[in-house]
Amino acid sequence: MNMLSVQEWRSQFPIFQTNMNGYPLIYLDSAATTQKPQIVIDSIVEHLSTANANVHRGVYELSQIATDRFEQTRNRIQQFIHANSPTEIIFTKGATEAINLVASSYGELAFEEHDEIILTLMEHHANIIPWQEIAKKKGCIIKVVPISMNGTLCMEDYASMFTEKTKFVSMVWVSNAIGVENPIKQCIDIAHSHGVPILVDASQAIQHKKIDVQSLDCDFLVFSGHKVYGPTGTGILYGKSSILDRMPPYQTGGDMIRKVTFEKTTFADLPSKFEAGTPNIEGFIGLGTAIQFLQQISMDDITNHELALMNHAIKLIEQKEYIKVIGYNGTNVSALSFSMDGVHPHDIASLLDRKGIAVRAGHHCAHPLMQFYGVPSTTRISFALYTTVEEIEECIEALDEIHTLFHA
Ligand code: PLP
Repeated sequence: MNMLSVQEWRSQFPIFQTNMNGYPLIYLDSAATTQKPQIVIDSIVEHLSTANANVHRGVYELSQIATDRFEQTRNRIQQFIHANSPTEIIFTKGATEAINLVASSYGELAFEEHDEIILTLMEHHANIIPWQEIAKKKGCIIKVVPISMNGTLCMEDYASMFTEKTKFVSMVWVSNAIGVENPIKQCIDIAHSHGVPILVDASQAIQHKKIDVQSLDCDFLVFSGHKVYGPTGTGILYGKSSILDRMPPYQTGGDMIRKVTFEKTTFADLPSKFEAGTPNIEGFIGLGTAIQFLQQISMDDITNHELALMNHAIKLIEQKEYIKVIGYNGTNVSALSFSMDGVHPHDIASLLDRKGIAVRAGHHCAHPLMQFYGVPSTTRISFALYTTVEEIEECIEALDEIHTLFHA
């Protein structure tokens, strides 16, 4: 891998021909959503132009073609994350829906009053509220693993949190708000040593590193298609079939049944049991193409490129005495959060935008984490395979100008 290949990768993303406020776009908000390569865009247009039909239902050729293309994505995802079978890959609207599905369905199956669910302080709201809702319904207790100021998960606290009442762990692999990576394999092994299943929120890991769910041995893993170069409105729930088989459906309707009478309905096998209604067909076809695109590149090359970007960014940022990095412990994956003396994150983001630089300012859907750091919001820069060293340098130079403007 060299800078030439980064330029080659980047050239496949048409958005980078766009100017923003008169400047070439510098997109440093890939943790919110990634840009789409031309081949993903083309595959959606091509599908809608030549093979649009509903899936799983028609006996006619067009519907068979649509179904084959749609199911091919399931096979690709299975290979990509090394699941045991395509039936362990459930299509959802996104990571949010996938977590809601597990909280609601597994919670219905297994939780009882006074049971305990373990989360961490750095979860996205999508991995907090679904658990709160099922906890309210079933009378369960939520326990939160603390972190230290540099964002490191307190492993001793985590390990000592388990009791005979602990029924589930749900944990983010890489924090969207601060970019810190949790030692996920160790966390999975600890949960299993207590006989407790664990869900891994891989929304900020899937686009940055090679994932093998069998060697991780996680019980569930979720991510959104739009964060891995695919379309919005697509998401993946991986679950071990031995657990998914026992869980009740999350939603009901067409396509998830074996037989319906007014007295009784029997449900289809995996994965259909969890896929009621017409899915986002062209979205999943686009997601399959995005995965194919990544497989052609190599996840290791992407990881190395993004690690080099992170090392460069932190080196430059740490030289600025007016910037305080929030939650950096050396494990950070493609996202850095910071605050600037006397300047509100929204002002930083607006002023950067005037130069065509897109960064995120806000609470990053992580209120509890912001409360821990004692800030209402931060500015976050985040990278992807198409990000260049020059873009990061331009952004950091622009931060200098903003600081000067506010302190002149
Ligand atoms: N979990 C994490 C760590 C995230 O970063 C996000 C999105 O930012 C989500 C969950 C929710 O993803 P979505 O809104 O695509 O469902």
